[in-house]
Amino acid sequence: MRILIAATEAVPYVKTGGLGDVAGTLALELAKARHEVALVLPLHQAIVPVKWKLEIAMDSLRVKMGDADLYCRVWARQALAHCRVYFIEYDRYFHRDPIYNDGSKDYYDNGSRFAFFSKACLDLAQALDFQPQVIQANDWQTALIPFYLKTWNYEGYFRKTASLLSIHNMGYQGHMPAEICSFMGIQRWQFRESEFESFGGVNFLKGGIFYADKISTVSPTYAKEILGEPGGSGLSPYLQRRSNDVAGILNGIDQKEWNPKKDKLLPARYSAEDLSGKAICKAELQKKFLLEEKADKPIFGLVGRLADQKGLDLLKEIIPEIMRWDLQMVLIGSGDPELERFFGDLPKHYPGKFGSYIGFEPKLAHLVEAGSDFFVMPSRYEPCGLNQMYSLIYGTLPVVRATGGLADTVENFQPQAGQGTGFVFQDISSAALRDTLGWALHTWYHQQDEIAAMRVRAMERDHSWKKAVKEYVKAYKEALVRRALWK
Ligand code: ADP
Repeated sequence: MRILIAATEAVPYVKTGGLGDVAGTLALELAKARHEVALVLPLHQAIVPVKWKLEIAMDSLRVKMGDADLYCRVWARQALAHCRVYFIEYDRYFHRDPIYNDGSKDYYDNGSRFAFFSKACLDLAQALDFQPQVIQANDWQTALIPFYLKTWNYEGYFRKTASLLSIHNMGYQGHMPAEICSFMGIQRWQFRESEFESFGGVNFLKGGIFYADKISTVSPTYAKEILGEPGGSGLSPYLQRRSNDVAGILNGIDQKEWNPKKDKLLPARYSAEDLSGKAICKAELQKKFLLEEKADKPIFGLVGRLADQKGLDLLKEIIPEIMRWDLQMVLIGSGDPELERFFGDLPKHYPGKFGSYIGFEPKLAHLVEAGSDFFVMPSRYEPCGLNQMYSLIYGTLPVVRATGGLADTVENFQPQAGQGTGFVFQDISSAALRDTLGWALHTWYHQQDEIAAMRVRAMERDHSWKKAVKEYVKAYKEALVRRALWK
């Protein structure tokens, strides 16, 4: 198939979270399966053309918006035989770092930035005469693509092009003031409750849900959760109207980057058969974070955005209690300033027991995944979650709440049956988290053989992209069937 993937981040160019991992890897995996793929990204400040040896694909591309014509340059590189990556250069919007906010507040012009980007993806496809059969939009930033595909006058060029809107997180919807309508090119009749209108403003994701031919999200459990509340973050009624078109496709992981047997970012490599390298990683982790250098102390690791979604406030509440236990904890993350301050200060209060790094540091993330014994994700909700999958293949047992992709990937420990790959709890409460951490700790000290067996089971799980690629292709085909029905 000919597929265009539009995303505002993708590995290896720029990434702030799971969307970046998925967009970049899916594009390559589809290309490996011999589909013809164009991946389109904004040329963010962090993407330096010389570093990636980008060529100019188009000196000047005109992007018509509702009330303005903008001109941008387009760069490109061939990432694989069947995958070309395009970068839209428009410095006024994209020459920024970080890419979505100034560190605390979203950029005031995010609506215009990403409406422009979405429109540019289509104008580019037409200018290149790359007539995609399907366009995959990702999250609210590109959720206007299905709308433009169906309503903009491209003189029939995209008549047969279907859209799949992939939702990586319902918590981010792109809610903008109504004034953006004229720039977006929304007509009065489209500014209504069933399409874009939401509390007097414009909700990009809501409009995308209306116009997309097919909707996917990143795990089967999350696909069910978003049809109700609180999973739908207020949009469940609109998703329910499309419930026959919603698919849950579990992300794979990039096993070139995340593989304990080959990971060059680690001081040693290891496998399920020979875990001696994991012990070296653990020692290095303890050293780096100034923890007591003892192999028998279990390390509980955490990596991620410090956002309400991740449930770290639950952990915060029980820190005084669990820091009395015989364990160590390492956290790396950034986000909420209050949580940053709290977790950033903990090593001072619990020297040798709690280590933290506030910031975004992929190399350290690898070391935490490899060197820890347990990995903690007390998420309130988790569309898919990648870190628990990395943990599993690194033999680091996840302690997770049963939500979204966590419920789909981590099997709870069942000592009698000799089953399970982690420790799972149900309630969003610090007590449930505390008890489950206690259970993991007890197992560590009293049932090491169970821990060893669980580790092997965890490391043997298959998280390759093969299955996901097949399911995406199936979803693209279903999108095409729907497209043909649209009047
Ligand atoms: P989300 O997409 O909600 O942020 P995921 O678990 O799906 O969560 O993906 C997060 C990705 O970002 C993982 O690859 C994780 O390793 C990475 N990541 C998150 N925070 C950090 C950090 N502070 N330093 C390095 N990598 C991070």
